Amino acid sequence: MIYNVAQLLKAPTGTVQRVTLDDEDNLELQDNEAELMGPVEGEVKLHRTNQGIFADGYVEVPVEMECIRCLEPFVATLRFPLREQFYPTIDVNTGVPVAPPADDLAFPLDRNHLLDLREAIRQNLVLAMPVKPLCKDDCAGLCPTCGRNLNDGPCDCPPEPVDDRFSALRELLEQQGQ
Ligand SMILES: [Zn+2]
Ligand SMILES: [Zn+2]
Repeated sequence: MIYNVAQLLKAPTGTVQRVTLDDEDNLELQDNEAELMGPVEGEVKLHRTNQGIFADGYVEVPVEMECIRCLEPFVATLRFPLREQFYPTIDVNTGVPVAPPADDLAFPLDRNHLLDLREAIRQNLVLAMPVKPLCKDDCAGLCPTCGRNLNDGPCDCPPEPVDDRFSALRELLEQQGQ
């Protein structure tokens, strides 16, 4: 996920270099961010812009998550777009240091004109993680009484009593509707 863009920086604005993500470079994720379950894949176009390089593409990463209903770990492949600006720190033609741009969301290229996508991918991956992961849309969850995983079949617990507050509210709403 590290690419030498020296030639691209020398090319005219609008020039595009395609890169395929298919290696197993580590993303250096924190423990609490995500658990990678396979290689990072994707396609990214590197566009030469006036200021530097614009990376535009998509990334696919298999990650392990824990279902919020049944609490079982499961693996899902997250697919998310990648759209990030990179700016040179050294002028590729003169070797003179370049002042960083005002856009503090952009990523620096290193002194050897290497573009490292890992931090950009890491940040976008964290944003792409679902807030409430579900192992499947219709996950049945756990029985609140015995704790059985109801995806494995029903338990023997009696049905949950209906909450009286809600039935009282429903009656009230029905009365008002008349
Ligand atoms: Zn589940
Ligand atoms: Zn039960």
